Amino acid sequence: MAHVITSLCLREGSCAPVCPVECIVPGKPEGEWPSYFIDADTCIDCGACEAECPFGAIFLDDEVPAAYKAKGGEVMTAPAGTSGFTEVYDGQDHDGNPVHLESTRTLKAGEVVDLTPAVKKNADFFSTGPGYNAK
Ligand code: SF4
Ligand code: SF4
Repeated sequence: MAHVITSLCLREGSCAPVCPVECIVPGKPEGEWPSYFIDADTCIDCGACEAECPFGAIFLDDEVPAAYKAKGGEVMTAPAGTSGFTEVYDGQDHDGNPVHLESTRTLKAGEVVDLTPAVKKNADFFSTGPGYNAK
């Protein structure tokens, strides 16, 4: 098992510094990989990142919800140009630096979304994407 970062991640970066095995990295290029990622081969499932994430974006891989019921106001990200993701998010990371994300959408209260595509997306990042190239 490993922990997984889902599309509720807004790149604010609090999780990476608390990981004891340094296996959390931001996806690059940002438009193609708008969230952070966890290297499942290195993650020791300590749970520190999950507790740290202000947006509730991190789950155990077998607990990623297929039917996540939104509280309302959560922002989902997607690769640039994804259909239905027409909003732009401007926020700050945990150091106060600006975060600008194209291709987002804000969830309505009670809306149900599938967050499980993040499991494959995370695996792909380290098997064929820039996470693999960085190893
Ligand atoms: S669960 Fe622990 S080891 Fe795994 S990514 Fe999070 S902080 Fe790192
Ligand atoms: S703490 Fe949460 S929002 Fe911040 S980078 Fe990590 S997963 Fe993304």
